[in-house]
Amino acid sequence: MDKRDVVIIGAGAAGMMCGIAAARRGRSVLLLDHARKIGEKIRISGGGRCNFTNLGTRAEHFLCANPHFVKSALGRYRPQDFVDMVERHGIAWHEKARGQLFCDGKATQIVEMLVRELADAGAEIWSGTTISAVEAGFVVQTARGAVQAESVVVASGGKSIPKIGASGLGYEIARRFGLPVVDTRPGLVPLTFGAQDLADFRNMAGVAVPVSVRCGAGRFADDLLFTHRGFSGPAILQISSFWREGMAVEIDLLPEGGLATALQAARAEAGGQAVQTMLARLFPRKLARYLAADFGFKGTISDLSRADIRALEARLRTWRVTPTGTEGYRTAEVTLGGVGTDALDAKTMQARHVPGLYFIGEVVDVTGWLGGYNFQWAWASGHAAGQVA
Ligand SMILES: Cc1cc2nc3c(=O)[nH]c(=O)nc-3n(C[C@H](O)[C@H](O)[C@H](O)COP(=O)(O)OP(=O)(O)OC[C@H]3O[C@@H](n4cnc5c(N)ncnc54)[C@H](O)[C@@H]3O)c2cc1C
Repeated sequence: MDKRDVVIIGAGAAGMMCGIAAARRGRSVLLLDHARKIGEKIRISGGGRCNFTNLGTRAEHFLCANPHFVKSALGRYRPQDFVDMVERHGIAWHEKARGQLFCDGKATQIVEMLVRELADAGAEIWSGTTISAVEAGFVVQTARGAVQAESVVVASGGKSIPKIGASGLGYEIARRFGLPVVDTRPGLVPLTFGAQDLADFRNMAGVAVPVSVRCGAGRFADDLLFTHRGFSGPAILQISSFWREGMAVEIDLLPEGGLATALQAARAEAGGQAVQTMLARLFPRKLARYLAADFGFKGTISDLSRADIRALEARLRTWRVTPTGTEGYRTAEVTLGGVGTDALDAKTMQARHVPGLYFIGEVVDVTGWLGGYNFQWAWASGHAAGQVA
């Protein structure tokens, strides 16, 4: 039987980082992946340019049943550590808004960098290899035969985008070894609406507006994009991780105010204009038409009383919509929930009651906001396990 010190299940972001750290310590490392092409999520990330970290990463950028769990790993592998690796490999990058770092060129540069680091450190990769079981001891049964390992690191990711290799294997392994799994659901995903709302929104597909959105404990200011099935755009992807069935999402269409100024300017121009014409100063034409119809005021802007203006402002600043669902794992960027953090050691990612078994990356009940936080978690948790596995 093949023998290795460390077998890593999943050669994605977290698995590769863990493999590099473990192999550099002199451990014999084998990464297993059922996909023929590894690192596919990195390749498609950040619109093909990989938002590989966020310089402002802090614990509050993550959803997790235990909000303190991420602190140790994030504190010991920082965004700058990853930037140093990127720069050692001569990969050009730039900062977009709010600390988000992207490659200037293609995201595949990050995959190539990690593969080169793995090769330099002496780690081996078996891609296109199905895994049928992980047995106590540990013996990993694969399509290329059984492999015995001192340590098994599960880095198989979440359920999002099944067509490029996502599977529920990590959760099955956790349950098999008695670890709890927090219910999973799609996160960072567009929200969908019922027929009635869609009839109203559909002809606005393609319209984008800056908003501030609120739902549960989440609050984000960014763009909302109307789609044929509902709402998308960064503000909506962010809030989707906080949304649950039956909840309303509250949208402020005037995150920077502006109604009074628009009204003043419109009145100075011509008091006889319709509310819709005035709203078109603030919003794209199709949205202005919808909002005016929804407000239902029949007169001109000169007819608006103070109370009408207050009511209009309230309507624009607290627009409540109730989605019926999400686009699901087909398009979700991440999976909420996962292996329960209470069962893991926050410093090493090792299962508390199963020595030698580790869980890292997205398979764990840790989900970052949009903006490079999910990769930073993958690097940091992978690095933490790689120091000890
Ligand atoms: C479209 C999209 C864009 C994204 N953009 C960004 C971004 O710009 N910035 C950011 O921070 N995050 C982004 N994310 C999220 C980020 O990609 C993930 O959080 C991150 O890849 C998780 O790393 P991971 O190693 O845990 O899992 P993954 O990268 O998903 O790797 C898991 C690996 O395990 C393998 N695997 C799964 N099941 C099995 C099995 N049964 N047997 C063998 N192998 C298996 C998979 O093939 C895969 O290679 C994006 C996600 C998507 C879907």
